[in-house]
Amino acid sequence: MKTLCVYCGSNSGSQPIYTERAIALGMRLAKDGITLVYGGGNVGLMGVVADSVLDAGGEVIGVIPEQLVNWEVAHKGLTKLEVVGSMHERKSRMFDLSDGFVALPGGFGTLDEVFEMLTWRQLGIGDKPCAFFDVEGFYTPLMGMLDRMVAERFLHPEQREDLWHGDDLDAMLVWMKAYTPAKADKWMDEKRRKAMR
Ligand code: AMP
Repeated sequence: MKTLCVYCGSNSGSQPIYTERAIALGMRLAKDGITLVYGGGNVGLMGVVADSVLDAGGEVIGVIPEQLVNWEVAHKGLTKLEVVGSMHERKSRMFDLSDGFVALPGGFGTLDEVFEMLTWRQLGIGDKPCAFFDVEGFYTPLMGMLDRMVAERFLHPEQREDLWHGDDLDAMLVWMKAYTPAKADKWMDEKRRKAMR
């Protein structure tokens, strides 16, 4: 694993522990020689992760849409900052650059980005690991929502299991490095499955 994409809040959250865990992740990436790919911002947990990688001597690639540069939220001290035309272009570029995806706590943007990667993967686009690096159970209710999707037959159980959730950094990196994607069909309804045969 040479590069890892981190999605996280453009705010820092209510408790210092969010920043502390973001720093721990950044320091670990630098120590392991894994380049950080992220949204290129200098705000919230995004800025914290980027700074912690850089401070520990690691490399950081930011991918940011022009609009956000104009709003002056781009990080000026990165190893490389790629400015792209749109949010769509950014997602696709981050996908190409990264060997895996990690969501730290965040808001709409963080969930949008990590769920897009999960969505693409269950349709067979890409075979890269996705992890929710949890802090103080922040993502536990979301995992409950995924279980509900499985119970209600909106999500294949194998796709549900095809992600990592936890707060142990070592365990997450071990899982990501050993990852092989699930092979389950996206569709569970008999009608759709018949049409595919
Ligand atoms: P949110 O979780 O809603 O705070 O959004 C964070 C995610 O959206 C990040 O992973 C970024 O890719 C993107 N994003 C939101 N705000 C910014 C910003 N000010 N600069 C760069 N990217 C941002």
